[in-house]
Amino acid sequence: MGYKCTWNGIKFIVADRFYPSSKICSRCGDIKDKLSLSERTFICDECGYEIDRDLNASINLKNYGKGVA
Ligand SMILES: [Zn+2]
Repeated sequence: MGYKCTWNGIKFIVADRFYPSSKICSRCGDIKDKLSLSERTFICDECGYEIDRDLNASINLKNYGKGVA
């Protein structure tokens, strides 16, 4: 977390491999301890936000790329 690279392409690859984008709530930023692959809908334990798992992950990656997350 917090690792930043000035090369955008590399930053994205690093985020894709190590950033737990599918486990993070794109609304409040809470990170789930576990999220099974069979769970297609992300439901946040913290704020109750419900969103498609892949959509949530892509929003997180977008935020990460902007340095928001
Ligand atoms: Zn949340």
